[in-house]
Amino acid sequence: MEILETKKEITDRLHTVRLDGSDIGLVPTMGALHNGHASLISRAREENQTVVVSVFVNPTQFNDPQDLLKYPRTPERDIQLLGELQVDFVFIPGEKEMYPEPDERFFDLYPLDAVMEGKYRKNHFNGVAQIVTKLFDTIAPDRAYFGQKDFQQLVIVKRLVQLMGYNISIVACPIIREPDGLAMSSRNIRLSPEERQIAPFISQTLFKANKLKSNYSPSELKQWVIGQFRKRKAFKLEYFEIVDDTELKQVKEWSEHVITVGCIAVHLGKVRLIDNIIFN
Ligand code: AMP
Repeated sequence: MEILETKKEITDRLHTVRLDGSDIGLVPTMGALHNGHASLISRAREENQTVVVSVFVNPTQFNDPQDLLKYPRTPERDIQLLGELQVDFVFIPGEKEMYPEPDERFFDLYPLDAVMEGKYRKNHFNGVAQIVTKLFDTIAPDRAYFGQKDFQQLVIVKRLVQLMGYNISIVACPIIREPDGLAMSSRNIRLSPEERQIAPFISQTLFKANKLKSNYSPSELKQWVIGQFRKRKAFKLEYFEIVDDTELKQVKEWSEHVITVGCIAVHLGKVRLIDNIIFN
C-alpha cells in the first residue's frame, strides 16, 4: 500500500496504473474509519483492479467551526485498517494541498440542496461538491463508492456527475449498522456511554415506521415519527422527511413513487446524528 500526500504524486502513480490497463475505484472518506467505510472499500476491492481511498476532513463542508474542530481524527488506525483491507493507494492530503487558495466555485444543486441537510447546514453540499470534484479531477476513477447512510449526499453526487459530465459510475452501498441498529458513524465515538445506550432509538423508530407504513399516509407517518421524538426528551429532532429517491421531493402519496426514503437528523447531547430508511 502506498500512502501519498500530494495531488502530483497520486496523479503520476495512477497514470502508470492506467497505462497498465487497470481500472480504478475510489472511496472518499473523512477518516475515523469504521465498518461502514470498510464495506465500501471491500466492494471497491471486489470490483476494481486498483483501489484508492482518500482520507481528508474537508473544511468547506462544515458550516459549524466547532464541529470541524471536534471531528474525530485517527490517521494511524485508519492507515492500519486500510492496509488490512488491501487498499492500493491512500491519498491523505493536507488542507493546503486541496485548497491552495479559497475555492470560490458555486455548484447549482438546487433544489436537491434546499431540503434536509441542505436546509440545516448552509453551504454544506457546495463544500461537498468542491471536494468531490477536486478528488474526481485528481484521481479520475472509473467508479466511486458512496454510502446510503448519507442518502442526500449520494443523490447530489449523482447529480454532480451529470452536471459536470464525468464518466464515473457512482456505486451506492447499503448502511452498515451496529448490532443494536445504530447506523455506524465516525461521530458515534463522541457519544457518552448513556447516550450511546439510547441512540438506537433513532433506527428503531425508523424500523417501526417502515412497519406502520401501510396503515398511514406519508404525512401521518411523519407526524407519528415526530410524536415519538417528542416523548423522548434526550433527543432533539431536527427533521424527519419522507422523500423520493431522485428529486428528494416530499412524498404526498405512497403510490406516486417506486422508492421512498425516510430521512432523519437528531441531536443527542452534543452530537448530531443522521440516519434513513428505504421503505418497503
Ligand atoms: P465520511 O467519512 O463520514 O465522509 O463517510 C465516507 C463514506 O462512507 C460516505 O460515502 C458515507 O456515506 C459512507 N458511510 C459512512 N457511514 C456509513 C455506514 N454506516 N454505512 C455505509 N456507508 C457509510
